[in-house]
Amino acid sequence: MKSVLRAGSKTRAGCDACEGMVPVTFSYGDWTMDDQTVVEDILRGICDRCGAVVVLPQQSVPKIKEARARARKRTTVRIQKSLRDFIQSRLYEAGAPVQHYELAIKVVLATVLDDKPKMKGLIKKLKTLHDPVLEDPLESSVSIYLTESLQERLQDLLRRTGIAKRSELIRRLVVVTEGDKDVLRELKKVAEYVA
Ligand SMILES: [Zn+2]
Repeated sequence: MKSVLRAGSKTRAGCDACEGMVPVTFSYGDWTMDDQTVVEDILRGICDRCGAVVVLPQQSVPKIKEARARARKRTTVRIQKSLRDFIQSRLYEAGAPVQHYELAIKVVLATVLDDKPKMKGLIKKLKTLHDPVLEDPLESSVSIYLTESLQERLQDLLRRTGIAKRSELIRRLVVVTEGDKDVLRELKKVAEYVA
């Protein structure tokens, strides 16, 4: 194949650290972006003299662009430790690794946001919800990646419920779906692929 470089290919390029043109060897490995996001397992051109990454070939660009886009959409949601424990017990029940908070939260979002017939009832529940768990301090946090479609639907639900913050909405959604059988069934389905 002529359109891709392979590990072990050689070239020459400028290296800032070595202050000049240097021999470069391509290899696969991680690369850290300026914002500390790590792009895993891409082909990089490494300076033979000092080991710095000096070339990122064209074929690595799609993964880098995707990582940039994901970093932009990643949101940190602060949650109560009690709510975190609930999410973990639900993951455990579904047979998924208990650290997959993101998975549990996304299954909740995907399940309830797609259920148009139940939407009216859900909005009412979200608005009137009183649960002592929600009063606990926000001492834990989870990092989740929201697709544009999920962001839009959350935005819409914020408008319709009058809840001020997206993270508060997400916490409330987890609480109101406590005994929801659809959520658990979906989570069990997805868990088969990640366990
Ligand atoms: Zn160098």
